[in-house]
Amino acid sequence: MSVLPCQGCKGLCCGPVAITEKELKKIRKRVKSMPGKLRNELEQQTRYFGTCIFYDMEKDRCGIYSARPKVCQQFGYHKELVCFKNPGLAVDGQPLEHKTIGILSVDYTWNDFK
Ligand code: SF4
Ligand code: SF4
Repeated sequence: MSVLPCQGCKGLCCGPVAITEKELKKIRKRVKSMPGKLRNELEQQTRYFGTCIFYDMEKDRCGIYSARPKVCQQFGYHKELVCFKNPGLAVDGQPLEHKTIGILSVDYTWNDFK
């Protein structure tokens, strides 16, 4: 499978994402396991308006990569989540519907992960 040219986008497609209960728990665990200094630095970064609270602007990548929600894992590769830089990679995939409990960055902010 080809890989998207995400480096350099600075989280262009990383906006608020709907998450499930299970994903929330996984992200909580991931954030709590970060060394305090790194966690604070990530929290305090200045991001573009609308960019996900976990986007690492300095490293230009997801700050919780191993715990990122399913929507993020499928972004660019699913016909409902097309990357405009490389739309050819998006194909029909499993339906995306799942029971979400809220939106990361809107309903769940850094204070919910402490
Ligand atoms: S999926 Fe596309 S828009 Fe999003 S960061 Fe990657 S290349 Fe950029
Ligand atoms: S969790 Fe990671 S991959 Fe998903 S929107 Fe936020 S920064 Fe991007």
